[in-house]
Amino acid sequence: MARTKSLIAQVEIDHAGKSHNCQANTNHRIEKNTIRLKVRNGRSWDIYCQDCAKKIISKDIEKLHLHISTIT
Ligand SMILES: [Zn+2]
Repeated sequence: MARTKSLIAQVEIDHAGKSHNCQANTNHRIEKNTIRLKVRNGRSWDIYCQDCAKKIISKDIEKLHLHISTIT
């Protein structure tokens, strides 16, 4: 049986192995061991801090609500 495809297959949440900057804003520091959002971008990942992750996910949830209300 074919597996149902996911819209968010290219998204992961993990913990930073070492500290680095958020890719949305270089003033956002992601400290080692903190939660971060990873979004697949070609062969690499775009990585965002917790604050940006919440904004990105909230926006996408809004978009998905819009899509489901359009098709139902
Ligand atoms: Zn950020």
